[in-house]
Amino acid sequence: MTPACGHIQGLESLIAAKSYECAECVRIGARWVHLRTCQTCGVTLCCDSSPNRHASQHARAASHPVISSAEPGERWLYCYPDDAFAEY
Ligand SMILES: [Zn+2]
Ligand SMILES: [Zn+2]
Ligand SMILES: [Zn+2]
Repeated sequence: MTPACGHIQGLESLIAAKSYECAECVRIGARWVHLRTCQTCGVTLCCDSSPNRHASQHARAASHPVISSAEPGERWLYCYPDDAFAEY
């Protein structure tokens, strides 16, 4: 496992998911598999197993590196640019 990167270590508090749906998939009428919450702006979007991969698109487009899982019972963070994973 890759050790947590500076982005993850620099998080002061975690942003919880505000809604249990992918905002972009709802807008375009698509389906998703799992949900992730951006730890920079708090938007909840779909994972890389979903057809549209909105969370990773957002991470690249907005340069927001770290997401958390928004799935109930999952407590982990992932940094896209560093491919770093951390449980909390
Ligand atoms: Zn990082
Ligand atoms: Zn989506
Ligand atoms: Zn964001």
